[in-house]
Amino acid sequence: AKNKGRDGIIIFNDELCKIIEKKLEIERYLHFAVDNSEVKLQYQPQVNAQGKVIGCEVLARWHNEHIGDVSPDVFIPIAENTGYIIELGEYILERALQALVKWDRSGIRLAQISVNISMRQFLDNSFIDMVEKLFDRYNIYSFKTQVIFEITETSTSDNLKKIVDVINKLKNFGIKFSMDDFGTGYSSLSYLREMPIDELKIDKSFVSKLDDEQQALLVKSIIEISRNMNLSIVAEGVEEKYQKDFLEELDCDLYQGYLFYKPLNQEDFEALF
Ligand code: C2E
Ligand code: CA
Ligand code: CA
Ligand code: CA
Repeated sequence: AKNKGRDGIIIFNDELCKIIEKKLEIERYLHFAVDNSEVKLQYQPQVNAQGKVIGCEVLARWHNEHIGDVSPDVFIPIAENTGYIIELGEYILERALQALVKWDRSGIRLAQISVNISMRQFLDNSFIDMVEKLFDRYNIYSFKTQVIFEITETSTSDNLKKIVDVINKLKNFGIKFSMDDFGTGYSSLSYLREMPIDELKIDKSFVSKLDDEQQALLVKSIIEISRNMNLSIVAEGVEEKYQKDFLEELDCDLYQGYLFYKPLNQEDFEALF
């Protein structure tokens, strides 16, 4: 709890101080994470209804020798706030494309590889050029694997025009777009309609509540609307058999979750093939 001082000044207690210190410490070390090779990629398989691995989502992992493992839920928002996400995001994309090239050469042919892109990174003025540079460098155009960028809804519609514009430019490189975390933010169905996306991810917060009739109905209508909009549907956070069965009944395209696979390091992912 925080106490109000005499003049309405907030006096931080020890606990709050520790949290802030911790955050500053993370910020300090994060700044060198790429240069010190502390960031690794994991790959979580996405399977079809028959359980066959069709694609994967790239998930960043950070281990620092002083502070240990830090969750992306912690370090990604910090990287967004400090602007470090620009460098970090480029590094992650390049590593993912290198994996794609390697897999293609060794006969591992995925239909898709999904990379998370922060809005801050996505709206950076150098983003399109950076993507083009990497696509040229690895000649990504010649591969059959579809690169998908997962983006999340934004809090306002201010940037909508810019977002749509960037999406359309990147689509020229053959990139597809997925709406991640749909329904957890501020966006509406009309927002969804305006976004030239190809795929929608059913957030794990919905999947985990499918035993609730209301939630199940909501997911059912999200899927039906997506279907009408010709979107491919991926369910995330599928942990239980009944969730998969329910989603399969609704004709969900791909499934991602611990019921099938946890995120794997590259070697373990490759061993699946
Ligand atoms: P997200 O994009 O929604 O990713 C899905 C998260 O759910 C991942 O957490 C994944 O490990 C987790 N997950 C997958 N299946 C299950 C399941 O069955 N049960 C449960 N409980 N969880 C499951 P993770 O890897 O900790 O990533 C957290 C978030 O950090 C991501 O959420 C994404 O927003 C962000 N993130 C991770 N990697 C990157 C990245 O390379 N770039 C950016 N911009 N953000 C990233
Ligand atoms: Ca994601
Ligand atoms: Ca998600
Ligand atoms: Ca998320």
